[in-house]
Amino acid sequence: MFDTAIGLTALVFLVVLIRYVIQLTDNNKRLFAITRRGYELELELTRAQVHQAMDQTKRDVRETETMWKGFRRFQVIFKVKEAKDIVSFYLVPMDGRPLPSFLPGQFLTFKLNIPGQKKPVIRCYSLSDSPNHPDYYRVTVKRQSPPPSAPDAPPGLSSSYFHDILNEREVIDVKAPSGQFHLDPSNDSPVVLIGCGVGITPLLSMLNSITEKDSSNKLSNRETWLFLGCHNRVDHLMKEHIETITSAHKNVSLHVCYSSPRASDILGKDYQHKGRVTMELLQQVLPSKNYKYYFCGPPKMLEDFNQGLNAWGVPEKNIQYEAFNSAAINKLTGTESTETESSIKVTFAQSQMTLPWNPSAGSLLAFAEENGIMLDFGCRVGKCGSCATSIERGLVNYLVESAKKPDGRSCLTCISVPKTDLTLNG
Ligand SMILES: Cc1cc2nc3c(=O)[nH]c(=O)nc-3n(C[C@H](O)[C@H](O)[C@H](O)COP(=O)(O)OP(=O)(O)OC[C@H]3O[C@@H](n4cnc5c(N)ncnc54)[C@H](O)[C@@H]3O)c2cc1C
Repeated sequence: MFDTAIGLTALVFLVVLIRYVIQLTDNNKRLFAITRRGYELELELTRAQVHQAMDQTKRDVRETETMWKGFRRFQVIFKVKEAKDIVSFYLVPMDGRPLPSFLPGQFLTFKLNIPGQKKPVIRCYSLSDSPNHPDYYRVTVKRQSPPPSAPDAPPGLSSSYFHDILNEREVIDVKAPSGQFHLDPSNDSPVVLIGCGVGITPLLSMLNSITEKDSSNKLSNRETWLFLGCHNRVDHLMKEHIETITSAHKNVSLHVCYSSPRASDILGKDYQHKGRVTMELLQQVLPSKNYKYYFCGPPKMLEDFNQGLNAWGVPEKNIQYEAFNSAAINKLTGTESTETESSIKVTFAQSQMTLPWNPSAGSLLAFAEENGIMLDFGCRVGKCGSCATSIERGLVNYLVESAKKPDGRSCLTCISVPKTDLTLNG
């Protein structure tokens, strides 16, 4: 009897012990599973970081091996009409060497030998395709008509050259890609891209790079809102291409605005909104203001979005825009009516002229032109460095920050104004 009791107690003890061990093992398994999942997540993250770093290293290596200084000869291999007065050029290097990559949003600087011009004409054009096509660069150029205020003025010099003279197989001089207006390749944060008129070109490069697989075959899932502004179907640039890629990518939302739709343009099909792209539209459509904003277009549009986004509370670091001409710079910096010291004297040493500074000229370049002094220039927005002129005496103020800003011994006349009496070697 006693033996049986001991036996039963031992049995119960054994059962309890076994259950305890089983429970402990289960807990351990669960704990292990949790730890393992954490470990896997950490591994995934590390792998992603390693891939990102490797991509960056590959880009850096390719860039140092292939980057060039000064101008390089490129041949036009395709010239494609995209819309009314808008043509794309596909360019390959004559030397057959690989091309450096670029960041979506950057531009090329061209030196054009235009018949009838004494000097080569320098102009910038944004790269309009993604960097995932290492064999060519593409730019998309709009023909510049005379402004409504001067209908008898000649049409744009370089854009007319691109449209009327430059054909397939011809060769032009191109500087390497550059520019501060570009997507940040190091993260996938949500973006709003706004392009009006031909200002859509750098945003197209961004859109294409978001919706294409990159060099390591990865596809971005970056939340992207694309707002496009045009007059109507006639100047609706790359309509089919944009519609095809946006409908194939759930992370991309497209909003097209026609400011003057024709009777044949269909609301809901060709375009989603009648009118211009405005801050009100953005606030109505976007789920929040928490995006990085990239925009490019006419001066008034840049001014409106810059002010509107600031007023909405979007941090400065999340706002990036590209100005295609100096009118935009003047609007954004408020220099249209700048009241800087008008008692300042500016001397152009080579032209042997000393003139009282006229603040309403906007920039030293425009001031020189106003007075019949022709200085070198290119982009007129402080991007290409072509207007760099040495300072013999005095100081200047810059209207905008520029990556090309030279040291104090010279200045970019297109984006500077005199701070003191000034002597330029121009
Ligand atoms: C970073 C950057 C990227 C750019 N990307 C692109 C792009 O992707 N696509 C694109 O199409 N453009 C782009 N541009 C703009 C481009 O560089 C040129 O400014 C544009 O093509 C006009 O140059 P143009 O030589 O044809 O005109 P210009 O000869 O410089 O003339 C400009 C305007 O002035 C008018 N004009 C000429 N003479 C007079 C006169 N006497 N009185 C009054 N008006 C006159 C012309 O009719 C024309 O409308 C970009 C600019 C920058 C800075």
